[in-house]
Amino acid sequence: MRKILIITIVSILTGAFAQSDSIVVLRDNESVGILFPMVSDGYLYISTDQLVTIGGGPRYFANEKFKESIRMWGTRIVFSPENPFAVIDGTPYNLGLPVRLSKNGLMVPFTGFFEAFALAAHNKIIFHTDTVKLSSIEQNFSEIPETTETESVSQTPTKRENKNSTRNEGKKGLIVIDPGHGGKDPGAIGPSGIREKDITLVIAKDLKNELENRGYKIILTRDSDIFISLADRSKLANKLKADLFVSIHCNASKKKEPHGTQGFYLSPAKTDEARAAAALENKSLLIENDPIIDNLSELQYIMADMVQSTYQRESSILSYIIEQNISKEANLEARGPQGAGFYVLYGNYMPAVLIETAFISNKKEEKFLTLPNNQKKIANAIADGIDQFWENIKK
Ligand SMILES: [Zn+2]
Repeated sequence: MRKILIITIVSILTGAFAQSDSIVVLRDNESVGILFPMVSDGYLYISTDQLVTIGGGPRYFANEKFKESIRMWGTRIVFSPENPFAVIDGTPYNLGLPVRLSKNGLMVPFTGFFEAFALAAHNKIIFHTDTVKLSSIEQNFSEIPETTETESVSQTPTKRENKNSTRNEGKKGLIVIDPGHGGKDPGAIGPSGIREKDITLVIAKDLKNELENRGYKIILTRDSDIFISLADRSKLANKLKADLFVSIHCNASKKKEPHGTQGFYLSPAKTDEARAAAALENKSLLIENDPIIDNLSELQYIMADMVQSTYQRESSILSYIIEQNISKEANLEARGPQGAGFYVLYGNYMPAVLIETAFISNKKEEKFLTLPNNQKKIANAIADGIDQFWENIKK
């Protein structure tokens, strides 16, 4: 018992992997092998080494960036480190948690992977503490009591979805509003010392009130001055199965002149301006001390898979509508929506946008952002944009 406790504490402190109990994998009631998962932060992971022992391979490694492609029973699966999506036969599936890079190679979230695989292969899946049962739909399930399905082997978020979402239908949706930065991360600081994290929190709270009055359910990623990692923000939205994710920010430039409002969505950056905005917002990663993502150029390969591509069209429309509304209602120049590699957007399995409300580095706009009346104008404008999107696109 003490040993388990020590292993648990060590693994939580270091994010390291500790051995867990073995799990037998059954396909159509026949054993195809035994897996030895590892546990980290309370979640089960399985190495790609192990997956190919049951799935047969073959296996390919990308020349760089530790990306891997394996075949399991003929189905092609591509994993990338720090990416919560696996591409299975060409379609991205959410694993609930990012794939991690360890000294033993890629570690894949256990439950999330098998659920995704079952979905892609049209299999039914049942988790027990020591077995995983995959069965083709044609198999007769009558002998298996339905109640065993709740007996999940890990605490990974259990319900994952694919394209055919059934979230919050019939009502106005659940929206996660993300006030940028917070705690030890002040965000950008204006010429007179105004901090981005304070402005984003006020606007987000105003926006929450406004949207609740209009019938939406709203969750804020933070409602006080605390630090939250970028990954945890999108994780929360996925866990809640939010319909939309809106991250609120203030833009900044080394030059004094740049001004205006701008909506962003996830996509490889096409302009230096978009790249600069993403680099600015991704700086929070450096404060997180994440040993894997310690270099912003790492984002380029994460982007390569374009995992948010399922929602890219909707996200770009939402960013456009919000930007237009802010421009009109708050009388700020519309800079034109753009795609860029924002880390806070890349794990989201829903339309997700990042709004640079105005330039805090511009003296005039810094002042503008501090006035409660203007903060409300911006919040109302974002709410109007969300409403228009909801009525015309999402519904
Ligand atoms: Zn920001």
